[in-house]
Amino acid sequence: MRLGSHMSIAGGLYKALERGHDLACETIQIFTKNASRWKAKGLILSDAEKFKRVMIKTGIKPVVAHDSYLINLASPDQGTCKKSIEALKDELDRADLLEIPYLVIHPGSHVGQGEKEGLLRISAALNQIHLDLPDNRVRILLETTAGQGTNLGHRFEHLALLMNMARQKERLGICLDTCHIFAAGYDIRTKQTYDETMDKFDQTIGLENLFVIHLNDSKKKLGSQIDRHEHIGRGFIGKEGFELILNDPRLAHLPGILETPKEKDLDGVDMDVINLKVLSELRPH
Ligand code: ZN
Ligand code: MN
Ligand code: MN
Repeated sequence: MRLGSHMSIAGGLYKALERGHDLACETIQIFTKNASRWKAKGLILSDAEKFKRVMIKTGIKPVVAHDSYLINLASPDQGTCKKSIEALKDELDRADLLEIPYLVIHPGSHVGQGEKEGLLRISAALNQIHLDLPDNRVRILLETTAGQGTNLGHRFEHLALLMNMARQKERLGICLDTCHIFAAGYDIRTKQTYDETMDKFDQTIGLENLFVIHLNDSKKKLGSQIDRHEHIGRGFIGKEGFELILNDPRLAHLPGILETPKEKDLDGVDMDVINLKVLSELRPH
């Protein structure tokens, strides 16, 4: 499994690649714009060219994009729904220009209308987006969620339904977040529970639809439905769960990306460096 971390684009998109390269990331994830704003200035072509040059130079592959936190494709509010669709289309255009193959998105929150209604709205929005952008090459990856609040996507069945209702399935896939599935109640701490969870994933969604893994330990207990990321091996999942993932031949071709807290340890060492070291030591040698 190629390993990396979510990197800041402060100072320019290409800076994320340089930061990742400095930490020995083999893959990275970025926001292609400010993740807490609806609108962004259009991408400047020379900035996109520079990004692609640095991507090749650093050998970081793949780069994964993550969408803005404001987008909610399940929103029952027409205005928010329309705004979300437009914002997501803009993110897909940006990622395509940067030759980023995947855009990870949170499926959406039903905000009280009910799960079924919310899932139907997400599905309609995804089909619309694919129709509106026939030539876009970026695959949208629906992320598994912890099920906090009214978030959808915390049951594998939700994601399977969205995959099945897609008119252009080949443009859709899944990103599995270890912290989120654990908080949602899917255990991966022992060989037995790991196998049960992955079998369940394969039977409902299909492992062939999995393209990215977010590697995060969990500050909260199994089934807590609370989304709090912890450093690898220091949360309720523990090292064994990550060892099982990193040694699963069915996942060996996937990028594994950290979204753990950005901080330094007591010696001033970047925790990304420590987390990457822990993970790479768990990888088969
Ligand atoms: Zn996410
Ligand atoms: Mn994630
Ligand atoms: Mn999270």
